[in-house]
Amino acid sequence: MYHELLREASFWSFLYQIDKDLAATARRAGCPCGGCLHCAHYLRRPRGGPRDLPTECRYRLSFCCNRDGCRKRATPPSVRFLGRKVFLGAIVILVSAMRQGASARRVRELSEMFGADRRTIARWEAFWQEQFPKSPFWKVHRGRLIAMVEILFLPGSLLEGFVRSGDDRKGWEQLLRFLSPITTGRGLMSTVI
Ligand SMILES: [Zn+2]
Repeated sequence: MYHELLREASFWSFLYQIDKDLAATARRAGCPCGGCLHCAHYLRRPRGGPRDLPTECRYRLSFCCNRDGCRKRATPPSVRFLGRKVFLGAIVILVSAMRQGASARRVRELSEMFGADRRTIARWEAFWQEQFPKSPFWKVHRGRLIAMVEILFLPGSLLEGFVRSGDDRKGWEQLLRFLSPITTGRGLMSTVI
């Protein structure tokens, strides 16, 4: 299945490197007010990752404008965190996808493996089935993806469209990069392509 890679600390270090690149790009762009962005990373307590998740991978990379009177926070897109969700983004995708059409036993196994309870998984399901398909983000992207993604079963169809096998690091990278605009303040309202 698709879950082995997500149990490896090295996979999360790999995603962290991508987040560092995304953060560097945001920092170079600076604040819209013309100010410089200073590091204001903050520690999160992500759930669902391996026990030996490196400490640096627990930080949400973020910046603060240095100009008095502005001091606005700028949080770049991420391939690790899905907005404010406590669980790591890839876990939210995987568990929701596996949930579709799975037997009660399989759901139990999944929730035990990643530590997500039934109510949490139900909330994720509502996110993928109700909020995500109606979002501006999805409306601008669905045309581009329609050939590869069967719209009916989100997020399972996204997972199948991008990730070829369980250890397909590149596929995960592309999927998480694709979703990264919705991990920022604008969330599902994002229409960046
Ligand atoms: Zn500013």
